[in-house]
Amino acid sequence: MKVLVLDGVAREGLQKLENEPGIVLDITKTVPEDQLIAIISEYDAVIVRSATKINKKVMSYAHKLKVIGRAGVGVDNIDLDEATRQGILVVNAPGGNTISATEYTIAMMLALARNIPQANTKLKNGEWDKKAFMGTELCTKTLGIIGLGRIGSAIAKRAQAMEMQVVAYDPYIAEKSVISTDIELVDLDELLERSDFITIHTPKTKSTRHLLNTEAFSKMKDGVRIINCARGGIVDETALYDALRSGKAAGAALDVFEEEPLTNSPLFELNNVVVSPHIGASTREAQIKVAADVANEILATLKG
Ligand code: NAD
Repeated sequence: MKVLVLDGVAREGLQKLENEPGIVLDITKTVPEDQLIAIISEYDAVIVRSATKINKKVMSYAHKLKVIGRAGVGVDNIDLDEATRQGILVVNAPGGNTISATEYTIAMMLALARNIPQANTKLKNGEWDKKAFMGTELCTKTLGIIGLGRIGSAIAKRAQAMEMQVVAYDPYIAEKSVISTDIELVDLDELLERSDFITIHTPKTKSTRHLLNTEAFSKMKDGVRIINCARGGIVDETALYDALRSGKAAGAALDVFEEEPLTNSPLFELNNVVVSPHIGASTREAQIKVAADVANEILATLKG
């Protein structure tokens, strides 16, 4: 059986699959869609990160494909309806990058609170400008976590260690699951009204698209800071831009965008916006863990 591995999935995590008798791995970087279409019919399984889109067109050429593996959490680059229609299983590696994404979100929150990227740029450009970078402490501030799943709850633990007050909104988890954690479960409006920092950790779905829109911003505290290291489009970028321009929001830290890759945006022109190119899960540890997790899933499927 042949497995195509794309998008630079970490080879160290694929050893079990590589050593399995009867399985041949072809490992390559991301290829353009026309090249993928030309070769996909040879493969029983394909493993991708987020760059390759396994859409309806690609699947229509994938005559032998039994399983698609996503080395990571979000499967929005795979057409799930079409996969279901064709009887192709889709597996992912939901827990492998939790710690990396969590630590990255905390790093973004601190960078935002203390203007670290801006100070770094200014000093490297030859300016010793202490006055420009008055920051804010996290201690005693309220952090609103939208989506209290794997990453959201790991963030809560770390924020509490920094003596932040944590409130969370997640309509799909039970009150009793947070009873011993000092996390207050609230509805969305209350979270918006009370939080000094708001961080998003939901998947991108029809119900979370533009969850933070103009109306949501109008309910927030003046001077709120927004962090989105989940998925682009959960925050309405136009509404965020307006909130930042008007002073309603004091800053934003964004690792994800509605359109990716993105190299130009009105948001990039604002000094109180910290951005990065979707690198929340970019650590060696996470890449090896997600590759190993997805390889196990693929192996289990191919072996029946
Ligand atoms: P998870 O499934 O463990 O948690 C998501 C939580 O969101 C769940 O508890 C769910 O109940 C909740 N939720 C769903 N819809 C909601 C809604 N409408 N309102 C409030 N809560 C809602 O997922 P996770 O592993 O914690 O990942 C969270 C997000 O982080 C995902 O979007 C994932 O793709 C993203 N992520 C990004 C990076 C990165 O590189 N920046 C890395 C890893 C994960």
